[in-house]
Amino acid sequence: MSPPYATVIGLEVHVQLATQSKLFCRCSTRFGAEPNTQTCPVCIGMPGALPVMNRRAYELALKTAVALNCRIPPLTKWDRKQYYYPDLPKGYQISQYDLPMSSDGYLEISDPKDRFPPKRIGIIRAHLEEDAGKSIHDEAAGKADSEIDLNRAGTPLLEIVSEPDLRSSAEAKAFLQELRLLLTYIGVSDCNMQEGSLRVDANVNLHIETDGRQVATPIVEIKNLNSFRAVERALDYEAQRQYRQWQQTGQKLGDAPKQTRGWDDAAGLTRGQRSKEESSDYRYFPDPDLAPVTTTPEQVAAARASLGELPAALRSRLISELGLSAYDADVLVNQGRPLVDYYLAVADQCGDAKAACNWVTQDVLRAMKDGGLSIESFPLSAPRLAGLISAIRRGDLPGPRSREAFEVMLASSRDVESAIAELGIEKVDESALVELCRELLAANPRIVADIEAGKMQALGALIGQAKKRNPNVDPNRVREICLELAKGGG
Ligand code: ZN
Ligand code: MN
Repeated sequence: MSPPYATVIGLEVHVQLATQSKLFCRCSTRFGAEPNTQTCPVCIGMPGALPVMNRRAYELALKTAVALNCRIPPLTKWDRKQYYYPDLPKGYQISQYDLPMSSDGYLEISDPKDRFPPKRIGIIRAHLEEDAGKSIHDEAAGKADSEIDLNRAGTPLLEIVSEPDLRSSAEAKAFLQELRLLLTYIGVSDCNMQEGSLRVDANVNLHIETDGRQVATPIVEIKNLNSFRAVERALDYEAQRQYRQWQQTGQKLGDAPKQTRGWDDAAGLTRGQRSKEESSDYRYFPDPDLAPVTTTPEQVAAARASLGELPAALRSRLISELGLSAYDADVLVNQGRPLVDYYLAVADQCGDAKAACNWVTQDVLRAMKDGGLSIESFPLSAPRLAGLISAIRRGDLPGPRSREAFEVMLASSRDVESAIAELGIEKVDESALVELCRELLAANPRIVADIEAGKMQALGALIGQAKKRNPNVDPNRVREICLELAKGGG
């Protein structure tokens, strides 16, 4: 039964752009260096140090905005967002306020499991800003003190804000997965959540139908969502919590202000943190140290031309041109472009798109997982896998033994002909196969009687014996021949 309310969700995603250096200085953005070794007067906020915009960061942001179907204004500017926190030495973050570099876009999401219909999720805006530093709380080491690492301060982030168009945790997760896929396809971010390259905050409230009118619970912003799974769980928890609270407070909503709550993944709940700031609390004003940025239609067109084939278009092509199911197209595309390219090469060379898809999405993916391999380092090349599929199609490699051949080819990097020789696989001659079946039937009168009585499962025993006599036989063919002979023989 669906709940008596609609869950209304908007997401704010901070994506770290894949630049070598920071947004306003030349410090490295490399992850994992010794604390405070990648800093300079600009990013630690020394008085008089002047920021200079990183052109590459702007190009990556523009590329993303175009991929998200955003409107790109001809002029954008920088603003100071002022707040005090120990990891923000300048006392303000350079961000964008009233003239963001892009707005009014959308991203389409769909669910191969059909839990929700395909849907267009609006993007309110995507703007560039710098990251803050990181507080290191060393309580575990027993020191109970806190230290600050400013290596991350000034790293370029793109903040992407969705419309509150999402209606369930499943839709929110699908949005994030599709966004991450898009960002990796166009190469603007590695989207590594463990390293903080992709961070998610979620705004959520309920629209409740009561006494023929609709009321809304106060919006809650959930922070500290470190995985897509955490996003899903936190949203489900928060929807139920808000509904419970609405019921408990006599179904009156009052003027509760917006609230920020933190997700505690281990405890599986959200905790109140503070009432949410309004933008006026930040005293935004234009940064006098940075010139506005102009963007020409030619630059937008160049960004668009650099995108390549996006995941949604690639899925459509796999379905319409190669005849794959929506589910198979989704599995392939979601693995990333290198795997799709491998698949396309196999399909093209063996001429059987569906068989190629089965091999790649089942055997290749399993072997990659078992061996901890990427497709780039996969020992079985696309031409060799295509050779294996072709050998099955020609009848040189019986289907039941094809996995053995695959394993041999994978382990010792050889082609299918050499694997067939190594395994002693021989093509079974049709007349020899009929002869074998005849012998088996003659030797097993009880099984024949069972088959004649309509007990088809009795055939299994014959197939087993046939395989023991000759591992190369095709079990389907054995079944067919035995059935024919048993009926014909009477
Ligand atoms: Zn710096
Ligand atoms: Mn932000």
